[in-house]
Amino acid sequence: MKVADALLQQDLSHIALTLHSKTRNDVEHALGKEKLELDDFMALISPAGANYLEAMASRAYHLTRHRFGNTMQLFVPLYLSNLCANECTYCGFTMSNKIKRTTLSISDTLSEVAAINAMGFSQLLLVTGEHETKVGMEYFERTIDAIRDKVSYLMMEVQPLTLNHYKTLKEKGLDAVLVYQETYSPQHYAKVHTRGKKQDFLWRLEASDRIGQAGIDKIGIGALLGLGDWRVDSVMTALHGRLIQKHYWQSRVSISFPRLRACEGNRDSAQHSQHLPDEKQLLQLICAHRLFNPHAELSLSTRESAAFRDGAAPLGITSMSAASQTQPGGYSTPTTALNQFDIDDNRPVDKVVKALAVNGLEPVWKDWMPFG
Ligand code: SF4
Repeated sequence: MKVADALLQQDLSHIALTLHSKTRNDVEHALGKEKLELDDFMALISPAGANYLEAMASRAYHLTRHRFGNTMQLFVPLYLSNLCANECTYCGFTMSNKIKRTTLSISDTLSEVAAINAMGFSQLLLVTGEHETKVGMEYFERTIDAIRDKVSYLMMEVQPLTLNHYKTLKEKGLDAVLVYQETYSPQHYAKVHTRGKKQDFLWRLEASDRIGQAGIDKIGIGALLGLGDWRVDSVMTALHGRLIQKHYWQSRVSISFPRLRACEGNRDSAQHSQHLPDEKQLLQLICAHRLFNPHAELSLSTRESAAFRDGAAPLGITSMSAASQTQPGGYSTPTTALNQFDIDDNRPVDKVVKALAVNGLEPVWKDWMPFG
């Protein structure tokens, strides 16, 4: 497990100390470099880096336009099931939450995909809670078989799977797998994952190796900002992305920056977090990721406000969800009762597209066409 092993060797206390020792000189040095090292990334997201947001934003803008053109990939999440056999303190689907549990049948899923297609989307992210016995491989295979020809790019955010399972799903047409580590600190991780298979920190950390070994086109990573020290977790995320690019160069890397949000059963989780970055710090982080990794896809969800998303869109973001529903069945029969977390940008997709146009960005609904 090449990537996981390298991540495990990192000293998180040393990273925290280094981050807070960075000076304006370190930030200016980083801004003057063509190819940034992890040490430079630390300078950019450090408290000292906050004074250079304008310079970082300008460089991030030009790097992004140079590499990706004036485009924005648009996708939508499709929640298939809110069953979950884990206890995670920050999530509305956590096992002990007394919410109505539901898993979409194939016919429900086809209705959802039809509603999503009607909104214009063809890039789809399948999302489930983690319930291996009821929502496992057999369910995933049946679902992909039923919908694969109705979408152009198929992504999945479910429990970490085995290498053979990833290989099987790739053969069925799966293009991308997202497994967020949530926090790279084993101590913080243990505090917020109190029951179930998700308690296995290492199994999750090794997922990107298994996805890379299976040859899946895109690997999505990220930390849930606010669970641990957001700067330390972001340094680990940046390193994680670069290690994937080094060892599994045939796969693309996508980085997300979800901030902790209130959810059903835990309305105050975000407010209680000592570690949550504010919007200015989140923007600093997005720009730093772009400077450190000019080729990575940077993805922003509807957890953030419309105003923030419109401001951040041209500065480094290359992929956005829009008009998202975070409960199973939400597109064909909308309800707010079963949401995984609160979303902030509730605009319909045409409004998101208009806002992109104001920023000179063209939406990409379909990334590529099959050859032949
Ligand atoms: S974060 Fe995932 S594993 Fe944890 S409770 Fe929510 S859906 Fe289940």
